[in-house]
Amino acid sequence: MWVVDGSIWIVIASREQSKRYGPGSLVVDGTDVTVARKAQFAFRPSRKQEAQLQELLSISCEVYNAALQERRDAYRMASKTLSWQDQFNEVKDLRGVRDDALAFGIQPVRGAIKRCDEAMSAFFRRVKAGQTPGYPRFRSRRRYNTAFWDEPTSWAVNAETRSLRLQGIGVIGLPKSAAHQLGRMLERGGVPKTLTVTRRQAGTGWAWRATVGFTGVAVDATPAVSSITGVDRGVVVAAATSAGDLHRMPKYRRALRTDIADLERAQARKRKRSRAWKQLGTRIARERRAAANRVDNWAWHTAKAIVEKTHVVALEDLRLVAMTKSAKGTMENPGTNVSAKKGLNRELQDAALGLLGVRICVKAESAGRRIWAVNPRDTSRTCSVCNHIDPDNRVDQATFHCTACGHGAHADVNAAINIAALGRRCEDAWVAAGAPPLTRKKSPRTRRKTTVAPST
Ligand SMILES: [Zn+2]
Repeated sequence: MWVVDGSIWIVIASREQSKRYGPGSLVVDGTDVTVARKAQFAFRPSRKQEAQLQELLSISCEVYNAALQERRDAYRMASKTLSWQDQFNEVKDLRGVRDDALAFGIQPVRGAIKRCDEAMSAFFRRVKAGQTPGYPRFRSRRRYNTAFWDEPTSWAVNAETRSLRLQGIGVIGLPKSAAHQLGRMLERGGVPKTLTVTRRQAGTGWAWRATVGFTGVAVDATPAVSSITGVDRGVVVAAATSAGDLHRMPKYRRALRTDIADLERAQARKRKRSRAWKQLGTRIARERRAAANRVDNWAWHTAKAIVEKTHVVALEDLRLVAMTKSAKGTMENPGTNVSAKKGLNRELQDAALGLLGVRICVKAESAGRRIWAVNPRDTSRTCSVCNHIDPDNRVDQATFHCTACGHGAHADVNAAINIAALGRRCEDAWVAAGAPPLTRKKSPRTRRKTTVAPST
């Protein structure tokens, strides 16, 4: 699986690269011996270190904007497309001229150039796909919140001494949770490769986070009891498995959703940008973050529970579900005229189900399992015993009762069994094809030759 980026559509996004076998696409082939993983944790710099980190972000922002400006100029004046390699080569010219920019090492400077390159690549990709492109914009210092190190130089983490060492800043102490996460990656043979440091406004100050990207993390393939498990994701039962497990989202989700909706309504009544409006904005952001964290936590646990029991997981392809639902409407969401609150529910719910899919894929990759994404058409109204298809088979939300053979079951489990059957057909087709592993996407470190006019 290759698309990370915090995208919830990971299963679907990678579909262009995933190969079809039988009625589904292979998303994770489970053949990796090692995988890439991230450790993410909060940390608290000292006052002096914080000032230095702010300076680092300010420089990163400046480099980003300069890199963007240079690309625009190069194109306008010479119809030339610069690559990140061209721009990397210029960094050494900063020596003696802008030593302040190099105080943190060459890496954060290159990191900002790389981010500009990514923004440009995304722009060209959208142009090519015929979407509304949106030329990359200059960024303001106030909103430039991330510094990048794409190589393991000028920084180091140590799980034992619980420290993060940054060139130009020194040694920053880390909390226990960070040491725990880093330790787990290192134990599994992980090699630290990349570092991201992010700030976000928290009350009157700042909250800092670091993400360390590891490669070479050994896959932890534990034996499973079942050969293949189908998973049906839904609104009432978040995930039902063909083995009969029903995973529901905890109740606190509802309370949080209500809170957020109430706060948003209260904010809408305030004068824009007033003190009260801003305070409510901060609270809304906090509540949303809390909700997201809890959902993420739940998704991790549920994914683990599902993945450790089985060698192969069959998931329904959620993009196809979304398409069918928007066309026909669902029991929970019949029309287009939904209230704001319902919209929010729906938004969080869809995000949570998408996230669960992503987490299942990540866990599966880590545990040497295989994942199939199958077309879920008719899986909820087909009898898993006699294959009779009839909308009347589904008596109500939870009950399935076959009008042909009389088979009765939990409706979501019945659907999960059908999904598992589709997964089995995928497996058979894949084995018949010689069980080829997925081909890896080429490293993005190649020179891009496309030349497209910027829209500005
Ligand atoms: Zn039947």
